[in-house]
Amino acid sequence: MATVISGKELSASMKAEMAEQVKAFPAKYGRVPHLVVVLVGDDPASVSYVTGKAKASAEVGIRNTTLRRSAEISEEELLALIDELNADDEVDGILVQLPLPRHIDEQKVIAAIRREKDVDGFHPLNVARLWLKEPCTLPCTPKGILRMLQRAGVEIAGKRAVVIGRSNIVGLPVAKLLLDANATVTIAHSRTQNLPSVTREADILVVAIGKPRFVTVDMVRPGAVVIDVGVNRDPQTGKLCGDVDYAAVEPIASVITPVPGGVGPMTIACLMENTIECFLKRQAK
Ligand code: NAP
Repeated sequence: MATVISGKELSASMKAEMAEQVKAFPAKYGRVPHLVVVLVGDDPASVSYVTGKAKASAEVGIRNTTLRRSAEISEEELLALIDELNADDEVDGILVQLPLPRHIDEQKVIAAIRREKDVDGFHPLNVARLWLKEPCTLPCTPKGILRMLQRAGVEIAGKRAVVIGRSNIVGLPVAKLLLDANATVTIAHSRTQNLPSVTREADILVVAIGKPRFVTVDMVRPGAVVIDVGVNRDPQTGKLCGDVDYAAVEPIASVITPVPGGVGPMTIACLMENTIECFLKRQAK
């Protein structure tokens, strides 16, 4: 039986601590941090993520403004909105909910956000600074994963870590953070040959693919630490499930994260943390 890391509980305690911290801000700085979330279109998953971010902001005491725009908005109009938010002194964090409609260049929009207000940690300069080991805003999901590993007392240094997935928002940055924590890291992807033989070498297995229950028990070394980033709908039941076959893998893993209630809530808690960090850095200037 594995130790189950509850992202729900850990994020709740992080949010409670942040709420205490934020309470002192009006007296000290005259206001609380302000996060602006831009939602383009009405994709149900995006709407639910944005709602979750607004709810967490309320719990922490962060001011949250969600700006909804039609899926027909032009790239130019969206860039003009970002410019406005960049120039607004009362805005500390700007998050553009992804994905954007196909006629808008996501990278262009992300690069238009002032680095100091990039609470997602996706701006090219934040990405560059992560790879240069310079102080930067860390992307929320990888940051949350490392926090979970630390909280569970998982030793990372010297261990063999395998990350499945090489996206800019999860796979690559989490691999870099594990490397910085002195793991020996392998990044696997859709072109990896004999994936089970690679994943079975992992002391720490991070799975960020987006395929329901893709990682089966034969792909996991007994005693491994398994972090499931995936958020999928079970094709049969329609319920949320991860990329790992949890029921089969949990009995042989040493530590595992559930879906839902694992990495997802940690991502949001780290977004709150990033918003506070951006606010404090701007206050210090
Ligand atoms: P993504 O951009 O679609 O990347 C998926 C990665 O998985 C790609 O690198 C792809 O390889 C790899 N892959 C696909 N099929 C594979 C296979 N058969 N074998 C090995 N690798 C395979 O996805 P993402 O944005 O990283 O997200 C991954 C999952 O995490 C999704 O379910 C997403 O919803 C979830 N997610 C959760 C959170 C959270 O807070 N919980 C945050 C972000 C994402 P190639 O590069 O070769 O195509």
